[in-house]
Amino acid sequence: MTSQSDELLPWQWPEEVWRGKVEQVRAGRNLKPARWKNGARCAVALSFDVDHETNELRDGGKSVGRLSWGQYGNRVGVPRILDLLKRQDIPASFFVPAVTALLYPEEQRRIIGAGHEIGLHGWIHEVNTAVPPENERELHLRSADTLEKVTGVRPVGMRTPSWDFSDVTLAIERELGLLYDSSLFADDDPYEIVEKGEPTGIVELPVEWIRDDAPYLSMNRFQALRPYTPPEAVFDIFRREFEGAYAEGGLFLLTMHPHVITYRSRFWILEELVRLAKAKGDCWFATHAEIAAYVKDEAGI
Ligand SMILES: [Zn+2]
Repeated sequence: MTSQSDELLPWQWPEEVWRGKVEQVRAGRNLKPARWKNGARCAVALSFDVDHETNELRDGGKSVGRLSWGQYGNRVGVPRILDLLKRQDIPASFFVPAVTALLYPEEQRRIIGAGHEIGLHGWIHEVNTAVPPENERELHLRSADTLEKVTGVRPVGMRTPSWDFSDVTLAIERELGLLYDSSLFADDDPYEIVEKGEPTGIVELPVEWIRDDAPYLSMNRFQALRPYTPPEAVFDIFRREFEGAYAEGGLFLLTMHPHVITYRSRFWILEELVRLAKAKGDCWFATHAEIAAYVKDEAGI
């Protein structure tokens, strides 16, 4: 079927082909609980994708300038983030490519030591759909072993690099026995991932480019990529996403990067958001792993 469907153009596909593609990985039951932990109205999941130099290495590592930009994430970004989390006494999740963990093992141990979570984020921030399936499997398995070796803690969740999800990614996550994924888009609130009609027991904590600092604030001198949204507007979008989640009693999940959000002109966005959520008095700040475990438990999965 695959080879035949590859030869056909999409408008020529028989129903089994287009239906099969859609049903490969689906959102199943909604896992938004009636109440969050300790009766909280809203769950706040802050995540930081600790790409550092792997963004440039993934593309060939040709630019020394861009590599140094990655190092900013380690020298300035992560310390600034950890300082905020400590001051506010809140946990967060850090998704770390294995190569980042090998470049900065002390940083990873500091993150774990401060009570935060570290999750999988590929080997060298490779694009899963561009890697042959057998290599993708080996890279994720090696990454899990590497993070465990560096931090002493086995990761229970994965955020695929660039949220790129191949035909075999879910099977690899199941083989790894992961509790959750946080790379897909089918809801605002947690759901159970279904593979070809079969519930997998894996929780999806959905992401969105809207709730990501990178699309608004990234820059590439030699491409058309520019920061096109002022920090005030980024804050306003994030704030409305949070207020919506709070109104609905849902999940507010934010993706950020140590080399993007932490600049002096931007870091207030996060500070202000945390203050706003704390002022509500009934928001549950938790790691992705804690949230996934809670919703799974509440649903009796
Ligand atoms: Zn990343």
